Amino acid sequence: MSELRFDGQVVVVTGAGGGLGRAYALFFGSRGASVVVNDLGGSFKGEGTSTKAADVVVDEIKAAGGKAVANYDSVTDGEKIIETAIKNYGRIDVLLNNAGILRDISFKNMKDQDWDLIMAVHVKGSYKCARAAWPYFRKQKYGRVINTASAAGLFGSFGQCNYSAAKLAMVGFTETLAKEGAKYNIHANVIAPIAASRMTETVMPPDILANLKPDWVVPLVAVLVHKSSEENGAIFEVGGGHMAKLRWERSRGLLLKADDSYTPGAILKKWDQINNFENAEHPTGVADFMGLLEQSMKMRPNDK
Ligand code: NAD
Repeated sequence: MSELRFDGQVVVVTGAGGGLGRAYALFFGSRGASVVVNDLGGSFKGEGTSTKAADVVVDEIKAAGGKAVANYDSVTDGEKIIETAIKNYGRIDVLLNNAGILRDISFKNMKDQDWDLIMAVHVKGSYKCARAAWPYFRKQKYGRVINTASAAGLFGSFGQCNYSAAKLAMVGFTETLAKEGAKYNIHANVIAPIAASRMTETVMPPDILANLKPDWVVPLVAVLVHKSSEENGAIFEVGGGHMAKLRWERSRGLLLKADDSYTPGAILKKWDQINNFENAEHPTGVADFMGLLEQSMKMRPNDK
């Protein structure tokens, strides 16, 4: 099988000065793409700035014979990052919304700044970059977006209330981009990666980290953003060579007649039914729920 190539394409990688972003940038630089290496260069808590992080990666790509340009803006100024792609290469094909920070603290001690900074970088930053790229994607009827969620967002994680909220926001954001972009051949998918980086080096033991190279997240992302990919609106967990798709599951549920008999007690009596995932459904849109409502209007349940 021939290798996946990205010749002539322009790939924007946010937060590409280290960790996963650096791995993406080096990979796409080595597969023919022109890469915009964005990084604000601050600490993992979102403090300070530096041009060094992005510059080092640009130098690495160029030394290996690839094409890359640095951008040092915050993702909250996403239009400037996309402008760097347009000014230097005249187009944008792929956007990897990857930049991120952590402000871990128990909910009891959380300050507004911890919440606001996390929302700004992850949620607003991903929005600003995608919003600026969108008109180009639509015009050329082609675009690929990867947003970055986290297991913390999907399942919750002690001390990461702000981060969890921001990361699950990436799922809803992606699902809607996928629906709005589909007819323009703009595909958006979301990953919950796990990899050794400065973000995880203090919370995981070295032997585990050794098996979580950022490079091992890259191949799935490459498949998803390739022009041959039909995936759109999918959620993947990926790390250490393992990857899997996630989806929603809805129990068969309970349908009660909406009249005077519809009481908390009536629900409690059938609680097991709400929790029963036998023959569960896998909804993919609001329409699925509307279908259930229609059914409920037609049906005359006998369980008063
Ligand atoms: P990392 O700290 O190595 O990389 C993040 C990069 O983003 C840094 O280089 C940082 O300077 C840059 N950045 C931060 N704020 C920015 C801003 N406002 N504008 C531009 N650049 C900015 O961490 P990583 O582990 O490589 O994380 C990459 C992404 O993956 C993040 O979104 C993170 O939340 C997510 N993630 C990582 C893991 C993991 O196991 N490493 C797990 C789940 C999710």
